[in-house]
Amino acid sequence: MIDLSSDTATRPTPAMREAIAHAEVGDEQRGEDPTVNELQRRVAELLGQEAALFAVTGTMCNRLAVAAQTAPGDVVVIERDAHLMRYETGGPAVMSGVLLEQIPGDRGTFTPEQLAEVLAAGTVHIPPTTLVALEQTHNMAGGTIWPLERYRAVAELAHEHGAAVHVDGARLLNAVVASGIAAGVWGGMVDTVWIDFTKGLGAPIGAVIAGPAEVITRCRRFKHLFGGAMRQAGIAAAGCLYALDHHVERLADDHANAARLVEGMAAACIAVEAPETNMVYFEPPPGWSLGAFLAALEAEGVRMGPVGRRVRAVTHLDVSAAEIETAIEVVAALVAAGPPGADPRGAQVPR
Ligand SMILES: *Cc1c(COP(=O)(O)O)cnc(C)c1O
Repeated sequence: MIDLSSDTATRPTPAMREAIAHAEVGDEQRGEDPTVNELQRRVAELLGQEAALFAVTGTMCNRLAVAAQTAPGDVVVIERDAHLMRYETGGPAVMSGVLLEQIPGDRGTFTPEQLAEVLAAGTVHIPPTTLVALEQTHNMAGGTIWPLERYRAVAELAHEHGAAVHVDGARLLNAVVASGIAAGVWGGMVDTVWIDFTKGLGAPIGAVIAGPAEVITRCRRFKHLFGGAMRQAGIAAAGCLYALDHHVERLADDHANAARLVEGMAAACIAVEAPETNMVYFEPPPGWSLGAFLAALEAEGVRMGPVGRRVRAVTHLDVSAAEIETAIEVVAALVAAGPPGADPRGAQVPR
């Protein structure tokens, strides 16, 4: 199966498994796991921050950032289709009791003017805005990158207002590789920022959040509160360290593969905007229901994912340039053959 459904489909390589097998470990909960401590040091430095904390998932990093930088009843500003808004089971409301003020974005980003309209100082009856959350790259918008000047202007405005800035950087390193702008530049302008190791970086477990030492200490307390403290977590951190050393620059290959996929699909008459990083979203071809198209792809050995009403293809470590050519041929053959006639209602095919 050529699995383009998500960059979470990566599996640890033999060399990464080797690094995991030889990890030095200790009790993470007590701060005594040397591999976790090394990973935290490396990521803090990479992101231009003072301190960092290893977490089980990126979702946990978003929970920690909100909990550590808000109080119940505060307002968190978020782009409308952000992961933190759409795909985290209402975590900010459940775990931190905050309100989410949604800004409709342009390719996942928003302007300082849009932010200025919703920032509230807080009075005896108006809830204060204490956190502004950005997503880099933006998943639902198509792996899009915040333009640096807009990012800077939004962060500065939030800070002038006294609000903290958080970056969901699940794929920040894709933005770094594609833009050529260093991780420390993006990370150094904001208060908290995290990267995921289980997306394109190819590790099996882990994400790391970075920020000022005092904020990270608060995150550590919430991590324990939310049940996320671990023991010999160096087993997982070793995979992340391996990924930092070996799987960052190669993200450029994933971006080239996504660009090639779009080019190949254009030849098959599927028009898709050129991707900025590793994600390609498109409508099912004319006449095809989403379910029927995905099932037909899968029957031919290509898996893409449904996201809302669209098809999503994500390139990653486990999909080669040759496999992209195969995927293009499969898509072209399906478009040429047309949709199955026996599926007039566009029924979802179970999978
Ligand atoms: C995947 C993802 C997350 C959640 O990360 P997990 O490690 O899967 O919990 C958060 N934000 C974005 C933008 C993501 O793509």
